[in-house]
Amino acid sequence: MGSSVRKGRAVQQAEPPRRAAKEDFHQVTQNTNNGRAITASRTEDSTKSSTKSKDAELILQIQSYIDKNTVVIFSNTTCSLSTEVKELFKSMKVPYFSLELDQTENGQKLQEALYQLTLETSVPVVFVQQQQIGDYSKTLKAHEEGKLQKLLEMNGPNHLQESYDYDLIVIGGGSGGLAAAKEAVKYDKKVMVLDYVTPTPLGTSWGLGGTCVNVGCIPKKLMHQAALLGQALKDSRKFGWQFTEEAVKHSWETMTEAVQNYIGSLNWGYRVALRDNKVTYENAYGEFVGPHTIKATNAKGKEKLYTAEKFIIATGERPRYLNIPGDKEYCISSDDLFSLPYCPGKTLVVGASYVALECAGFLAGIGLDVTVMVRSILLRGFDQEMANKIGEYMEEHGIKFIKQFVPTKVEQIEEGTPGKLKVIAKSTTGSQTIEGEYNTVLLAVGRDACTRKIGLDKVGVKINKISGKIPANDEEQTNVPYIYAIGDVLEDKLELTPVAIQAGRLLTQRLYAGATLKCDYVNVPTTVFTPMEYGACGFSEERALEKFGEDNIEVYHSFFWPLEWTVPGRDNNKCYAKIICNIQDNKRVIGFHVLGPNAGEVTQGFAAAIKCGLTKEQLDSTIGIHPVCAEIFTTLSVTKRSGGNIIQSGC
Ligand code: FAD
Ligand code: NAP
Repeated sequence: MGSSVRKGRAVQQAEPPRRAAKEDFHQVTQNTNNGRAITASRTEDSTKSSTKSKDAELILQIQSYIDKNTVVIFSNTTCSLSTEVKELFKSMKVPYFSLELDQTENGQKLQEALYQLTLETSVPVVFVQQQQIGDYSKTLKAHEEGKLQKLLEMNGPNHLQESYDYDLIVIGGGSGGLAAAKEAVKYDKKVMVLDYVTPTPLGTSWGLGGTCVNVGCIPKKLMHQAALLGQALKDSRKFGWQFTEEAVKHSWETMTEAVQNYIGSLNWGYRVALRDNKVTYENAYGEFVGPHTIKATNAKGKEKLYTAEKFIIATGERPRYLNIPGDKEYCISSDDLFSLPYCPGKTLVVGASYVALECAGFLAGIGLDVTVMVRSILLRGFDQEMANKIGEYMEEHGIKFIKQFVPTKVEQIEEGTPGKLKVIAKSTTGSQTIEGEYNTVLLAVGRDACTRKIGLDKVGVKINKISGKIPANDEEQTNVPYIYAIGDVLEDKLELTPVAIQAGRLLTQRLYAGATLKCDYVNVPTTVFTPMEYGACGFSEERALEKFGEDNIEVYHSFFWPLEWTVPGRDNNKCYAKIICNIQDNKRVIGFHVLGPNAGEVTQGFAAAIKCGLTKEQLDSTIGIHPVCAEIFTTLSVTKRSGGNIIQSGC
């Protein structure tokens, strides 16, 4: 731990190669120096075969490490000489980038390419300021002769004076931030995580772990489960269970306490994991105050300054408010809902996307009177046929919808827990105004990235001025080379926990383990946990039609009736399966949509198949599992184009 604490000038990812200071080291980018250092471009020029061009790619990869870092040590975790060389640089308080070839994808091949480039037969191989120093003994010799020190002083007398407290500071201890931090310490980096929850306007706050754990996926799915159990209770009568109606009631307090206890255990688990992994955790708000420098302010207002070589912004998002009279005073958001100490009662949910429909679904499922106020359409961005089916199902199950209306004012009529609120709303298509009374108003009108109050202007990180999101390249690097961003703060990326985690892990592996794999944001599966769950992966039908044209798209679809629902006799032919195939590409499945029980479980496996290039033919040749819902995907035969009957009459 802390073996590479930075003392010295920053090693920035996008630094240009520096001018050579001394002629007695090989400048790998420019000459062959008696054939010892082969340039990547020369190799490329002189080779024609694909093997050679692969070699050239590897050499280019090695070259990029050399170009981007002041000190590079090509090393091996089990090699004692590599360890000694790293110790040497540590003793000089000089930062280095080490590529552990035995821990790296393609490590063996990279080592061969390294040999081609340097003619060094064993690790470690050291480069300083883009100059090849050589193996262990050459590096030691260069140190004894003062040559290393001279090269390192090329950037001015202050070069060795500056100091960084950490290799990496992660701002935000949510899904992405924690994943990145825990990965970075695996590579012997000194890492700090700052996490701070700004209380909601009503004062709700929570522990370590971010949105997913505290006010997102976890409590939402558990409360969704509470609702499903209510339905299961009803179904159970038909399966022979007997109980009196009076004995069945739901306790909000019991559910919330159980969910919060579980979340408490997760918060604790995260703290222990950070401690065990030797990640420094501060429950403090992070804000850049200058290059490589962050101010951490704790709940008591105590401020500390920390420096780091690199930063990851993983500050996530928080619920948006409507900016209408009464919203912050009287309305709640999903940040308040999951720990609300009293049952919300008759609830108006404002919004029509993931959060709104999921919350409306489980609130109705536990027996509350729920209305959803929709500004335009349901689930913007999703396949609209599926979205409308979700809406229809919710309506059939007692949830009311007020469409094309937005609230303009919320007034308190009665105090209490819950009290009573009057909501005034106006039409989005005309001048009509309506009023309604509710115990609770839940705003679920989107979320804003937490980027405007973290001093990004002080370090020059650009944000999208309208959305507040951070643009980054495909390696999650912002316009400031030493600052990265992952998760919900990223512009044009999916806001999902597994996406944030994957991006965080891969980023750290690229930064510290020489990996090259980037986060793949394409074909990410997702599930909306509405009363009828909806799983999706790939293109919506409308996007597929727009991109490929109607003639090139074949849509196969079918209703289905889960066996478990037949005995209780409910919701016959409400579940729906649809795949979208690209005719021009061997009928590859480019869109997968399922509306039915356990849609998330179903979608996960098909998402893996889609990633492998699943075609309709392969789906047809897959033997189903009987009797399960997912088997419908192995027998889809009716195309939408044909207008054929898709009602299922039995198994
Ligand atoms: P977060 O997890 O939000 O973490 C950011 C952390 O940084 C927070 O702890 C925040 O308090 C902290 N922070 C912010 N600013 C600072 C600062 N300046 N200094 C220090 N700390 C700071 N995704 C799914 O995949 N599946 C689901 O079922 C799902 N359900 C959801 C349900 C709801 C109600 C919501 C709101 C979201 C849901 N999501 C779901 C989305 C998922 O929660 C997010 O995509 C995920 O949490 C993003 O992770 P992140 O690391 O980017 O940010
Ligand atoms: P969202 O997807 O941005 O949707 C915002 C909703 O609020 C839209 O329906 C929008 O309507 C409506 N809205 C916006 N401004 C409004 C206004 N002034 N008045 C009335 N309605 C307004 O936000 P979200 O539901 O909060 O979800 C945020 C992200 O969290 C999602 O993108 C998702 O990735 C993640 N999430 C995931 C899950 C899951 O995986 N199951 C669950 C929850 C959240 P318009 O369509 O008219 O704009």
